[in-house]
Amino acid sequence: MKLVLLGPPGAGKGTQAAMLVKKFAIPQISTGDMLRTAVSGQTPMGIKAKGYMDAGDLVPDEVVVGIVRERLQQVDCATGFILDGFPRTVPQADALKLNLVELSKELDAVISLDVDIDSLVERLTGRRSCGDCGKGFHLKFDPPGADGKCDVCSGELKQRADDQEETIRKRMAVYHQQTAPLEDYYRQAGLLIAVDGMAEITSVQQQILMALQVA
Ligand code: ADP
Ligand code: ADP
Ligand code: ZN
Repeated sequence: MKLVLLGPPGAGKGTQAAMLVKKFAIPQISTGDMLRTAVSGQTPMGIKAKGYMDAGDLVPDEVVVGIVRERLQQVDCATGFILDGFPRTVPQADALKLNLVELSKELDAVISLDVDIDSLVERLTGRRSCGDCGKGFHLKFDPPGADGKCDVCSGELKQRADDQEETIRKRMAVYHQQTAPLEDYYRQAGLLIAVDGMAEITSVQQQILMALQVA
C-alpha cells in the first residue's frame, strides 16, 4: 500500500499513520519527524531547517524532496509506505511523481483529512508526544494513563515548540496558500479520498480502511 496523508496541521495525519503502520506493516515517512531529528542532532540540514520551522514556514522544497527521495529508496519501502506531511507544495508533488516513476511505483491513494479550524487549534494546543518513543497523545482527546508520562515507555511527554497559538495560525495560513491546492491536484489524478477528520480517532481509522476496501 502506497499512501499519502494530506491535511492541515493537527488534522490527525500522524495519529492515523501510526495505525496504518501496524495494519499494513509498512513504514511511516514523516518529513516533520525527520526534520525535527535533524534539528535536534544539529546536522547541516537541521541547522538550515530550524528557522523555517520555528517561524511556521515550510522548509525549502529541495531539502524535503531530497530526504524523501533517499528514504523511498530504502528496502523497507519496497512493499509500501505512508507519506505523512509530504508533499506540501505542488513542486513537491511533481517531484514525488517523478521519483515514483523512477522506482516503478505508483500511489494507491491520497487520504485527505478534513477538520474545521477551531478544532485544529484545540488539537494542536493539547498535543503532546513522548520524548523517548515519539508516541502521540492529546490532553483531552487521547490522554495518557498517568499525567505527563508515556503509556508505552514511561518517557516524559513534551509539547512541540511550534504548537503555540501564534505559530499555529501561521501554519494554517501556509497550509491554505501552499498545500490546499494539492487536494485538487490529487482529485484530478483520481487519487483523492476525502475523509471526515472531525470524527473520533477510531472512526476516522474505520473510514480510511473502508475507503481502501480493507476493513
Ligand atoms: P497531524 O500529524 O495532522 O499534525 P496529529 O496526528 O499529531 O496531527 O494530531 C494532532 C492532535 O490531535 C494530537 O494530540 C492527537 O492526539 C489529536 N487527534 C488526532 N486525531 C484526532 C481525532 N480524530 N479527534 C480528536 N483528537 C485527535
Ligand atoms: P504537523 O504535524 O503540524 O502537520 P509536521 O510535523 O508535518 O507538522 O511539520 C512541522 C514543520 O516541519 C512544518 O511546519 C514545516 O516547517 C516542516 N515541514 C514538514 N514537512 C514539510 C514539507 N513536506 N515541506 C516543507 N516543510 C515541511
Ligand atoms: Zn514513549
